[in-house]
Amino acid sequence: MAIKLSNRSKLIKPSPTLSLSAKANQMKDAGIDVISFGVGEPDFNTPDYIKQSAHKALDANFTRYTANAGIPDLKKAICAKLLRDNGLEYAPKDILVSPGAKASILNVLTAVCDTDDQVLIPSPYWVSYPYQVLLADSVPVYIPTREEDSYKLQAKDLEDAILESPCAKVLMLNSPNNPTGTVYTREELSAIADLCVKHNILVISDEIYERLVYDDTRHISIASLNPEIKEHTVVVNGVSKAYAMTGWRLGYAAGPTHIIAAAGRVQEHSTSCVNSITQKACVSALNDEDDSIEKMRMEFWKRRDRLFDLLQAIPHISCFKPQGAFYIMPNIEWYLKHNNAGLKNSDEFCDKLLEKHHVALVAGSSFGLKGTVRFSYANSLANIEEGVRRFANFLRELSQ
Ligand code: PMP
Ligand code: GLU
Repeated sequence: MAIKLSNRSKLIKPSPTLSLSAKANQMKDAGIDVISFGVGEPDFNTPDYIKQSAHKALDANFTRYTANAGIPDLKKAICAKLLRDNGLEYAPKDILVSPGAKASILNVLTAVCDTDDQVLIPSPYWVSYPYQVLLADSVPVYIPTREEDSYKLQAKDLEDAILESPCAKVLMLNSPNNPTGTVYTREELSAIADLCVKHNILVISDEIYERLVYDDTRHISIASLNPEIKEHTVVVNGVSKAYAMTGWRLGYAAGPTHIIAAAGRVQEHSTSCVNSITQKACVSALNDEDDSIEKMRMEFWKRRDRLFDLLQAIPHISCFKPQGAFYIMPNIEWYLKHNNAGLKNSDEFCDKLLEKHHVALVAGSSFGLKGTVRFSYANSLANIEEGVRRFANFLRELSQ
């Protein structure tokens, strides 16, 4: 007889972003010319100055287990970065280095949530938050945001949700945001911070897209607003997006000493330290940054502008203009209501688009926002132009 799976594991569905990427890659391997706007990862190579540090670490046989929470020179580099970029003062003991920001978030949720504690998630949200909350045995509570509010959590909606959730313990805040690209201002963060302090809610502030902001947008860390909110925040960040290092697997959390220590114990019994070579490479990534990082940001900015303009030109499509990250979410509702293929939702739409025109997009429903699709513009300008041409052709066919 087959072994029965745990109830918890049955709640966990595959990651839609990672499954889509696997499907698109399979089609590419079969010789199909797929243009993928699916998974959100920079298409650039890791900059040379970072790779050189990794080579050096390997040659020096830096290949053993390290301290669980991270090597001292990396924790020092992270403290220096948080002070330099965010005005945040942390001691090395308040830093936990983990195999990706994804792991950082799960370690922190596991450390602070008890069974039935509620975690507030503004929607749309990054696909992994709900499942991470379930893995931590706690309960996701969604707070919808609206396009007319630039998809930002409103203080009134937050307070209502807190008052209606007797076990509310944590707020997941993600700015710059995946999937909408919205970026919170100081004033907006301040209103959220006041409520979290007042109601004793911990903010997990996911700042992984911090470096990717456009126009005159500035990233502000909510923890930097005042000492009270700093005591109620764990800042999560990493190297995957800004430094084009998704496969190296390194993220970090900075926060109140007792939370970081508890999250560190969770890590000690699960993954242990991050790969030793990666840690050395990240010391360089943070300390010795050259102009390659800014060049990637400028390229993303150009792509954002081009993709936004192309999408705006398509009839019946409306689109929020993102200020950060590398995603854009056009609203395709009109085509879901008026199409000759019987497509009723964004999942069916994305399946058909991939099958017929070989363009991979993620359905908005994966992020809790029906009637939209997500483009990741971590792709070349040439692919963006060709991909949107195919997307527009598909829409035209559907409405004929
Ligand atoms: N948070 C958000 C919002 C993300 O989009 C990602 C991307 N995978 C992560 C966290 C995790 O990044 P990583 O584990 O690669 O550091
Ligand atoms: N965060 C990226 C995305 O949303 C990478 C994939 C993932 O880890 O989910 O596409």
